[in-house]
Amino acid sequence: MAKIEKVAVIGTGILGAQIAMLAANAGNKVWAYDPVEGAFVNTYNKIFADLKAKGITPFIPWEKWEACRDAVKQETDLGEAVKDADLIIEAIPEIVDLKNKVFAELGQKSPAKTIIATNSSSLPVSKMEKSSGRPEKCLNIHFYFPLQGVHMVDIMGGTRTSAETMQAGVDWIKSIGCVPLKVNKELLGFCFNNVWRAVKRQVLYTWGNGFVDFMDVDRAWCIFTKMKEGPFALMDKVGLDVVYDIEMSYYNDSKDPKDMPPDALLQKIKRGELGVKSGKGFYTYPNPKFLDPNFLKPTM
Ligand code: NAD
Repeated sequence: MAKIEKVAVIGTGILGAQIAMLAANAGNKVWAYDPVEGAFVNTYNKIFADLKAKGITPFIPWEKWEACRDAVKQETDLGEAVKDADLIIEAIPEIVDLKNKVFAELGQKSPAKTIIATNSSSLPVSKMEKSSGRPEKCLNIHFYFPLQGVHMVDIMGGTRTSAETMQAGVDWIKSIGCVPLKVNKELLGFCFNNVWRAVKRQVLYTWGNGFVDFMDVDRAWCIFTKMKEGPFALMDKVGLDVVYDIEMSYYNDSKDPKDMPPDALLQKIKRGELGVKSGKGFYTYPNPKFLDPNFLKPTM
């Protein structure tokens, strides 16, 4: 299969805009389609301001941001955006019916050679591949927050994805400077979120049922892994309401009582303790205890 050079990103909200930037940075020709005019640049401005405010060193050096932004061609006509694409990455809202509608349109409007990937966090491409009319060219290509430096990408096939399509996807992920995490069989949560979710579920269970103090879990995690933050600090960053919704979606899927998040988490959310964004979650911000120099000392 020829090298991927022309990329169309469908939906340029928080994830799509980052994917378009990464592709432009790697020298791909990039089209960004969104029904909302100016969506790509609007999201670009938000991410730019957010990373600057947080003092984060981004994956793309600051001096290259404007050139990458200007290299992305914004389109509000879907046919124009995909007519020449080697690879399409869909990053529209997480609604399976909407994704199927868009996959059908993409199958009709792009050339037969075009690979169609979804950036969905929770929907395997097997739920959309048929709508495209070319399941052998469909994939999950799932990004985290690449501009913030999380340069790893899950890649997973559907029921009929060809080996050639998988290889082209892996090669493209490497070409944009990311580490491909290949999933060999359909797996909810892909390679990394699946592991992170198991950790989350278990620590919420042990804390929520009174077995342990959450700070001891984080201390143990930090001492053992040499990381600066433990799972509870990370959940505070994500937002406890977001964590709860994700856990509930797993529970609704499995109906396994072990997947049900503890009531103590729901009570925190009801009290407005949502994590960093509300000033209190498991820890209190802006000076959470895990940043105390004594956090990992016996005296704490
Ligand atoms: P978002 O709401 O920020 O952006 C969605 C964009 O899609 C918007 O700009 C919207 O105008 C556009 N859109 C709506 N309908 C459309 C259509 N019919 N055709 C084209 N564009 C359309 O959403 P997001 O957070 O970027 O999430 C997008 C996808 O990426 C979801 O599948 C989500 O699961 C996945 N994802 C999100 C994250 C995250 O942290 N936000 C991480 C990894 C993956």
